[in-house]
Amino acid sequence: MSIPTSFIDQLLDQTDIVDVIGRRIPLNKKGSNFWCQCPFHDDSNPSMAVNQDKQFFYCFVCQESGNAIHFLRQYENLEFVDAIETLASSAGMTVPYENNRLDKSKPSGLVEKAVRFYQANLNETIAPKAIQYLKERKITGPTAKKFNIGYAQDKWDGLFNHLEAEASAKELNESGLFSKKDNRFYDRFRGRVIFPIRNIKGDFIAMGGRIIDEGEPKYLNSPETSFFNKSNELFGLYEVKESERNIASLIVVEGYMDVIGLYEHGIKNAVATLGTAVTPNHVSKIMRYTNKIFFAFDGDLAGGKAAWKAVENTFPIIREDINIYFVFFDPGHDPDSYINEHGLEGFQKLLDESISLSSYFLSKVKEYNLETLEGRAQAAAFAIPVVNKINNSVIKEIYASEVSKLCGMDVKTMDVPTSASIRQDLNHNVKSNSNMPVRVKAVINIFSALLAFPAIAKDSIFDQLKNNPKLEFLFIILDLYKQTPDIKPSRVIESLESDQIKGYFSEAVVAGLELSEKNAIKLVVDCVDILLKNQKDREQILKDKYNVRSISPVERRDLQQIILKKQEITDDDRNWLEKLSSKQD
Ligand SMILES: [Zn+2]
Repeated sequence: MSIPTSFIDQLLDQTDIVDVIGRRIPLNKKGSNFWCQCPFHDDSNPSMAVNQDKQFFYCFVCQESGNAIHFLRQYENLEFVDAIETLASSAGMTVPYENNRLDKSKPSGLVEKAVRFYQANLNETIAPKAIQYLKERKITGPTAKKFNIGYAQDKWDGLFNHLEAEASAKELNESGLFSKKDNRFYDRFRGRVIFPIRNIKGDFIAMGGRIIDEGEPKYLNSPETSFFNKSNELFGLYEVKESERNIASLIVVEGYMDVIGLYEHGIKNAVATLGTAVTPNHVSKIMRYTNKIFFAFDGDLAGGKAAWKAVENTFPIIREDINIYFVFFDPGHDPDSYINEHGLEGFQKLLDESISLSSYFLSKVKEYNLETLEGRAQAAAFAIPVVNKINNSVIKEIYASEVSKLCGMDVKTMDVPTSASIRQDLNHNVKSNSNMPVRVKAVINIFSALLAFPAIAKDSIFDQLKNNPKLEFLFIILDLYKQTPDIKPSRVIESLESDQIKGYFSEAVVAGLELSEKNAIKLVVDCVDILLKNQKDREQILKDKYNVRSISPVERRDLQQIILKKQEITDDDRNWLEKLSSKQD
């Protein structure tokens, strides 16, 4: 599915990049920009400028740049659509998807047909054992209906026969519902209770199946398809969203039976990962809908590992306004079995007694023998890399200070930058461009003038530079401003190929030069002069090279071009052209 450009523009208009970045990394205002430590390279200075006026960020070191969408995609490692969803959710807007049949990320509708087929199978006549199984798990009819639970008969072609007439081989193949052998399709799910998986928009995109009789594997999921990426999806999230507009909290569990079991007992805000550890994508998605998260993993070794993985994947994107808690079960218990044994109240009590992310993390540090110097060193060696994953420098400072107390070491010796040191660095971080080549400065200044007065793009002064192949990028940008004078800087960047030019343009954006129109025009005139002189210099340098016979074929062509594109060609120029074309040795 696709999202209309008009919506993306509207979304960017209603979003402030300073909020988006500031919620994740502390920003400090200095001059016309906000500054922060760049999360995209190992930054010890605030190297990233965020320009509110132009809604644009730029890192002077790694040159990462762009708008709020680009920042989110990079920072939370999101697909484009997910970044849009995140921004839309904080702006209180709903993303209008356009149906585009050719779009590969749109489920074909086949999965939904399969869900309905399997659902119809779930009755006493066809599936007595499945009904029996659900009864044993204390799943009632309304809950089975809410989650669209179904049953796949133990046949190789039940679903295939049902869908064959209405889908092409390609669709069948891409649906994830069949396996293929010797050019024939076979039902992937056989003899299983079916738990359909929906994406956040409610489309059925995949399914999980629990075997009824003996057999392996006990749980089987759809394979990844163009519309199902399991490290991105959460079972039950759509169902929570469907019944709760403002989600107070979400409980993350390991399996779909946990989600359904909790729902049956009245806990209607659980979601499950699909056979994977909690990924940063999951965390980012959950944070989009709530600011209170409980991780409730099984009371076994794997559950403990899953909890720690959740810590590691939460740290990079943690924010001050997000509260995270961990619930631990006795060995042998999972959320479903616990609530079956202790009921809603018992489970609620467990949530009340859950421990916070910071306490959980510090309890891990305390597992080392902090009585001995060796133990404290080991604890520090364990904790520092984890703390360093935190991008939010305020939170990082708090964690670092707690760890230093426990390990009896000074924060400074632990190589964890704190916001105090960031503030210090800010004072000498203003980018100095005094040693930049003059023609680079000229290019950046032309960009600055264009950003301030886009109408300058129409000025004929630039025509003089047309014969310089090295300045092609300038004309691409001029054309963009001629066509769309109010074009957003991030759109201009998208149209450029060279990272270097993108960097120059970004510098001009964050430089945010305040120019009067008169000064902007004067600046352009001066800079065009510099570039022209530079071109004349280039011509002379190439001619000198030619005279000592050290000219390369590329340089030869370059020189030919420079001469050919002159507005007036002199006799001397003609001589040169002759020389250059005759001596093709
Ligand atoms: Zn950077």
